[in-house]
Amino acid sequence: MILTINPATEEILAEYPVMTSADIEELLEAAQCAASVWKETPISERKVAMNRLADLLREQKDEHATIISREMGKPFKEAVSEVEKCAWVCEYYAQHAEEFLQNETVDVDGMTGMVTFEPLGVVLGVMPWNFPFWQVIRFAAAIMMAGNGVVIKHAPNVTGAAIALESLFKEAGFPLNLYRTLHIELEDVDRMVGEIIAHPVIKAVSVTGSTGAGMAVAEKAGRALKRSVLELGGNDPYVVLDDANLRQAVDVCIASRLLNAGQSCIAAKRFIVHHSIKSRFEEMLLERMREAKMGDPFDPSVRIGPLARKDLRDALHLQVEQSRELGAKVLCGGEIPDRKGFFYPATIVTDVSPGMAVYGEETFGPVATVIEALDDDDAVRIANDSPYGLGSAVFSSDPERAKTVAGRLDAGNCFVNAMVKSDPRLPFGGIKQSGYGRELSRYGIREFVNVKSMFFG
Ligand code: NDP
Repeated sequence: MILTINPATEEILAEYPVMTSADIEELLEAAQCAASVWKETPISERKVAMNRLADLLREQKDEHATIISREMGKPFKEAVSEVEKCAWVCEYYAQHAEEFLQNETVDVDGMTGMVTFEPLGVVLGVMPWNFPFWQVIRFAAAIMMAGNGVVIKHAPNVTGAAIALESLFKEAGFPLNLYRTLHIELEDVDRMVGEIIAHPVIKAVSVTGSTGAGMAVAEKAGRALKRSVLELGGNDPYVVLDDANLRQAVDVCIASRLLNAGQSCIAAKRFIVHHSIKSRFEEMLLERMREAKMGDPFDPSVRIGPLARKDLRDALHLQVEQSRELGAKVLCGGEIPDRKGFFYPATIVTDVSPGMAVYGEETFGPVATVIEALDDDDAVRIANDSPYGLGSAVFSSDPERAKTVAGRLDAGNCFVNAMVKSDPRLPFGGIKQSGYGRELSRYGIREFVNVKSMFFG
């Protein structure tokens, strides 16, 4: 059985039966049949279904946002924005897929060479709970416009969202079984996902989640010689130089750190601040963090909902405690509130150094880590002193200086004077332990195709 729990109230929301091996076999065979039809379906028809999906997402946004907020605690208005963003990526790929998958001709010694982009078949997506609609749709929209089928292994705590997504694809008019959701026994995930990856129907796999989950899945994909894309964790540095517009930098840092109660792979996690502005930065940060109201996700004035699960909240608190014991100073927050729900307050940890959990590990919650840098070189050194390489940001009023620092950061994304966001028009992904491969833009749609060379002699 899979149990979903409202993290704001600790109430049980629903229980779902898990699938047997025979159910999964049947599901995969059905997905394969649907994918073989979809592969031959003209892109103009794929486009109609994808645009219809976008319309349905917009029409039903409140209903889906309610499921998201109840299951994982995201403030309702953020959940509505998540669903709206899903509609955007569907429209984006409906509009651009044809252009991205256009055949390319190549002159080969006066003869014609051609490159085509053909679907692979059924692709498995292993998905997390933090953006339960967006992570799935940004993957599925590209993959399906390229002519593939999709099977999703979603996070168990958002099973209601997983089921709603499956219904949406059906309602939008995609062929029956082209998009399917697995419900897997919790204790047996590693083995069962391994078997699904090895199954001949599955041609490739994409994971969004922790580095541990990425390693486990990539190992199995490697053994089965199947392509994988990994969108994993991050410990994103936000570098604030001494000539930055501090008010703007603090606003952006807070917006990024508190979005989704800090449970985002690309949230600002380490604020690396020039020593001459550190105390002013901290004062402004403290003032703004204290203003952020924590509570019921359905209260429009609430900025920080609960964390998605009790174990995640407790793990975050341990990271803060371990860092405090090693000498870090907690400027606000840092205590588990005495109330129902898996809440954790906006927290600032400063005087942070290597060896502390908040320095080296991903903190998945509203915990801002402040680290002092001596100069630009030192800021770059600290920013790159991480096993992760997902997002990063630089704040400076000198565009050339900001560009130079941005160019030296080891990350898949670097934003200047702005918050790192995934955007359908830009490739999204990481390096180092943040994973490999890209989603979104033309790069994302080409991850799960057969790039086929042809030659006409
Ligand atoms: P996980 O990475 O464990 O879960 C994400 C997805 O991967 C879930 O569907 C999960 O399934 C699945 N998964 C986990 N292990 C395996 C495996 N061995 N084989 C196949 N699938 C697997 O994240 P958690 O929910 O446990 O969160 C832990 C930490 O991960 C967070 O604190 C955060 O640091 C990070 N995280 C990062 C995310 C990101 O966007 N980068 C998103 C979510 C978490 P199941 O739950 O059934 O095990």
